Order: sequence, then C-alpha cells, then structure tokens
Amino acid sequence: MTGKLQRGSLVIATHNKGKLREIQALLAPYGVECLSAGELGLPEPAETGTTFAENALIKARAAAEAANLPALADDSGLCVAALGGAPGVYTADWAEAAPYEGGPGRDWYMAMGKVEGKLCEQGADTPRDGYFACVLAIAWPDGASAVYEGRAHGTLTWPPRGTLGFGYDPVFVPAGGTRTFAELDPEEKHRISHRADAFAKLVAEQFPE
Ligand code: IMP
Repeated sequence: MTGKLQRGSLVIATHNKGKLREIQALLAPYGVECLSAGELGLPEPAETGTTFAENALIKARAAAEAANLPALADDSGLCVAALGGAPGVYTADWAEAAPYEGGPGRDWYMAMGKVEGKLCEQGADTPRDGYFACVLAIAWPDGASAVYEGRAHGTLTWPPRGTLGFGYDPVFVPAGGTRTFAELDPEEKHRISHRADAFAKLVAEQFPE
C-alpha cells in the first residue's frame, strides 16, 4: 500500500543533524514541516535488514509508529561491482574503529583503504566501477509505505583526493567526470548524487505538479 504525503508534519527518522538539515531544505518548498526523531526523543532501531530498502523501512516504520505521524528515513552506501556489491549495507560498519575520546569511532581513511586492498587482491585488471545508493522510505501510521532508490555511478580511484564531502567521497569519481566527489563543491555534488536522484523520484510521485 503506497500513501501520499499531505502538507503538515513529517518525522525525519534520523539523529544525524547534517542529514536533517539537508532533508529539511529539500522538502521546504513543498510545505512540509520536518520534525526530527532526535528532538522527539524517539529510539534508534537496530538496522538489521540486508538491503538499503529494508533498513530505511525499519527506521521509517519505527518512527511512524512511535510518533503517530508519517516518517521519512534514508539508508545509503557504496556498492563495488568487483566486490559483489560490498560494502553495501555495511558501508558505515567498514569504517568502525576503536572509539577515541571525543571522536566518532569511525575511520573513513581505513574504510577506503579496505575497499582498495580488496580490489588490489583481485589483480590490476579488476574493474573499478561501483555506485553509491540512497534509499528513501516513507512510512505512514496506518502501515502504508513508499520507497525511492537513487544511484550515482562511477569508478573508484586511489589515492584519495579532495577535502570536501564525507565518507568515501575522496575515492569516488562520478561517471563522466575526472574529479572525485570530495573535489566537487557541495552544490555540484548534490546535483548528481544518489541522494538527489532518490529525492527527485520522491518529489515526482509525492508532489506531482
Ligand atoms: P547510513 O546511510 O547513515 O547508514 O550511512 C551509510 C554510509 O555510506 C555513510 O556513513 C557513508 O560512509 C557512506 N555514504 C553514503 N552516502 C555517501 C556520500 O554521498 N559520500 C560518501 N560516502 C557516503
């Protein structure tokens, strides 16, 4: 069952302030007031799914039930063809490092190195193509849901280049380009990113002109 968003409140099922800001800005033109799971004090469910869509739905459904409002969640990651789609839903886990005082316990340089190491193990001729995926899921309190998947295709480069962006951006060169995501200014990245692609699909279905 697929629902439709009305003008009004939508819970953004994230405790990440950066994601919240980005989603609020994208939804502002459509008269949607965004509340965050963090400010509502909603718990963070365990991401036990094996696909981006399952994990996005787990987060959206948990928030919709707890707040009794429609809720939007996203799940994203990097899929490398020669690695059978890994790290995929485990993209953030590959950066898991021992937490240090005041730090997030995530080491993105190590995670990028892990991907590169596994590609090198397969030999110099291994194709280096991959894509970032972003799945947006909306869940309504009556059980309805809608899922939108966006992708950004490209190739993996080494060594990492650029200081902008986050996560695996310094090793990802989007298709048709020469600079990594971390060398593009944020507006340029957001025009072609997996998140932008997923949002375009959501807007086309939820807010048709
Ligand atoms: P999650 O969606 O919060 O589970 O995080 C997935 C992980 O994928 C992030 O922590 C990032 O490392 C990675 N990721 C997702 N989108 C991007 C992106 O646009 N650039 C770089 N890394 C990304």
